[in-house]
Amino acid sequence: MKPAAFEYHRPATLDEALDRLAERGGEAKPLAGGQSLIPAMNFRLARPAALVDLNGLTELAYIRSDADGLVIGAMTRQSSVETSDLVRRAAPLVHEAMPFIAHAQIRNRGTMGGSIAHADPAAELPAVMLALGATFRARSRAGPRAIAAEAFFTGLFTTALAPHELLVEIAVPPLPPATGWAFAEMARRHGDYALAGVAAVVTLDPGGRGPVLARAAAALVEGQIPTPELIRAAADRASRDIDPPSDIHASAAYRRHLAGVLTRRALTRAWERARGTA
Ligand code: FAD
Repeated sequence: MKPAAFEYHRPATLDEALDRLAERGGEAKPLAGGQSLIPAMNFRLARPAALVDLNGLTELAYIRSDADGLVIGAMTRQSSVETSDLVRRAAPLVHEAMPFIAHAQIRNRGTMGGSIAHADPAAELPAVMLALGATFRARSRAGPRAIAAEAFFTGLFTTALAPHELLVEIAVPPLPPATGWAFAEMARRHGDYALAGVAAVVTLDPGGRGPVLARAAAALVEGQIPTPELIRAAADRASRDIDPPSDIHASAAYRRHLAGVLTRRALTRAWERARGTA
């Protein structure tokens, strides 16, 4: 299928892009890598009256570290993050999760900002950014705004961004000492969206206890000595706390089971890594 008719704008600067979005109110959509938006338009699931193409905004494509940790521009391609030494050192969980996103060709076009703004619950980056306590920096004609990952994802494919607001930068805080991480997922084929995926971050206190895990099961393990029983209980809790859908790929019960198994694997791996860095 072909998309419904739309206006096309290709601004050369961020300011110009914000002007175009503000002029069109909620009727315009930013176009980043197009790997989710264009298929949705072709299927007529999305019918924006106008596209504001961000691909001319080279000012939004960068990876660097600053006082807040690692900062990544929204238009940075996923493949650049995957191969970045700085990301591997400063945010190893992000590095570990990148190859699970689709295929190399899609990561060559797909952007960090696009994946996060799209807010697909089966996508890797939203889960990873939540686990790491990332901050998303947005801009609109009204000025800049910082949104914590926890407040950003408000539901299925929905975020705290206003229609005329752009995600411009992702800030990932440095990992505290004695912190381990792990990403685990199950997909039918490599590159498919995950049936279930888990990102875990574990920080040990000087006595070897007190993990901090950015998921519902965190409360159960926080301040406890890590044992296989505790990890199993947390995994069980994580699988009971989610409400996954049933579809042609997997039943809700199977997804819940997977979430438990993957939580156990990711937590165990993150704990081992945390001990190794303690
Ligand atoms: P686009 O498609 O251009 O935009 C997506 C949405 O975000 C649109 O609504 C757009 O308006 C909005 N948007 C984009 N940039 C901004 C911004 N800076 N500020 C505000 N809003 C913005 N993804 C996964 O995570 N895991 C997978 O396993 C996976 N498998 C895939 C398999 C296939 C076959 C395909 C085609 C895609 C797959 N994807 C997967 C999606 C891919 O990662 C996309 O790159 C990503 O979802 C969207 O990024 P994009 O840059 O292409 O954004």
